[in-house]
Amino acid sequence: MAEKDLGELFLHTLKDVYFAEHEILKTLPKMAQAAKNSRLKQAFDQHHVQTEGQIQRLQQVFSLLDQKPEGAPCEAIQGILAEGSEVMEEFAGGPALDAGLIAAAQAVEHYEIARYGALCSWAELIDLEGVETLLEETLDEEKETDLLLTQLAEEAINIKSA
Ligand code: FE
Ligand code: FE
Ligand code: FE
Repeated sequence: MAEKDLGELFLHTLKDVYFAEHEILKTLPKMAQAAKNSRLKQAFDQHHVQTEGQIQRLQQVFSLLDQKPEGAPCEAIQGILAEGSEVMEEFAGGPALDAGLIAAAQAVEHYEIARYGALCSWAELIDLEGVETLLEETLDEEKETDLLLTQLAEEAINIKSA
């Protein structure tokens, strides 16, 4: 059996994240609809638009590698999203719903930061410069989204203790 190299690991992980972004794209409108806080709703809507752009960026990456865009089912993101829908059902309409939504969304962003972070390092190691730039743009968006969610979580806590 031939040993698989870093290029193959890169491509596998790219397909993984391509699958994940499509699942996330389907989930964000549900989270926006469920959220009570208007700024949280807005954050989910904004990230939905960003996610469409991230999928296009991934398509550009596939094309730079002469590959056709293809997703590979990723159990990690499926598990994170399944947990998120559980929270949405269990806390529907209640006082802890937004806090649960924020935590679920941050688990998604952390997954993406891990994946895009690895892809960026590998792109650098195998000298895929144009690819690295594209993936870094997305990585920055995921990090900004995570920071925004942290802010919203802290504000919600402040409102409660005031
Ligand atoms: Fe994303
Ligand atoms: Fe996976
Ligand atoms: Fe994201």
